[in-house]
Amino acid sequence: MIIRKSQAEVARIAAAGRVLADCIDLLADAVRPGVTTEELDRIAEAFIRERGGVPTFLGYRGFPRSICASPNDMVVHGIPGKHRVADGDVLSLDVGVTMDGFVADSAISVPVGAVDAEARRLMDVTRESLEAGLAECRIGRRLGDVSHAVQEVVEAAGFSVVRSLVGHGVGRTMHEDPQIPNYGEPGRGPRLAEGMVFAIEPMVNAGGHEVYVADDGWGIYTSDGSLSAHFEHTVAVTRNGPKVLTRRRSEKM
Ligand code: MG
Ligand code: MG
Repeated sequence: MIIRKSQAEVARIAAAGRVLADCIDLLADAVRPGVTTEELDRIAEAFIRERGGVPTFLGYRGFPRSICASPNDMVVHGIPGKHRVADGDVLSLDVGVTMDGFVADSAISVPVGAVDAEARRLMDVTRESLEAGLAECRIGRRLGDVSHAVQEVVEAAGFSVVRSLVGHGVGRTMHEDPQIPNYGEPGRGPRLAEGMVFAIEPMVNAGGHEVYVADDGWGIYTSDGSLSAHFEHTVAVTRNGPKVLTRRRSEKM
C-alpha cells in the first residue's frame, strides 16, 4: 500500500531533506584525491547531528556507518573505511536523514579530481535520467511512466540501468511501497496521487546491467567491472507538480 502524506508530513520530510541536501553539498566539497571514505562518513554524521537529525543508514539492518560511499565499479552500499579515493575516480555518495519522525533519501556521484570524458558523460546521463523520472511524478501519471522516463534517457545514451535495485516510497521509514524500478512500461502500474513521496534513484552502468554482492554482504559491484553512477532525490507528488525535497543549493536548475 502506498502511504499518502499530508501537507504537514511532506513539510517534515522537506525539513529532513534540507539538512540532507546541505550535507551532500558539504561532502561533495570535501571530496578530493586522498580523502578516505571514513573521513567523509565522519563529516556527514557530525553535520547531520549538529542540524538536529539522525543518519538514517546507521544501524539500518546492521549497516555500520552513516553514509554509503561507492567508488567506480561499486554501484551502491559501500561501507566507508580506510579506502582513499584517487584522482579520476567516480565516487557515489548516498545519505539518509531522519528528523522529526520522517526520512529523506538522496545520492550524488561526484568526480574526484580530473575524470575522463566517458565518466563525465555517465554522470551527466544519470543525473538527466533522474530529472526525467522526477518530472513524471505528477498526479494522474502511472508509476511505469516514471520508470520508463528514466530508462529512456539511460538507454538512448548507450548505458544500462541496474535492474535488481530500485527506488522506493519514503516517509516514516526509509523503504515504503512502492518499489520503483528504473525501467518499465509507460501507462502501467499504480496511478500517482497527491501526497505520495518517492525516492527516485537511477543506478546506471557504463557496461551491462548485471551486478553482484561483495563478500561483506553490502557492496554491490558491476559484474563487468564497468563504471557506475547513482543519483537520487526524494520527491513529493503535489497539486503543483513534482516537488523535489532534497534539491541542493549547488544544483543549478
Ligand atoms: Mg539513498
Ligand atoms: Mg533510496
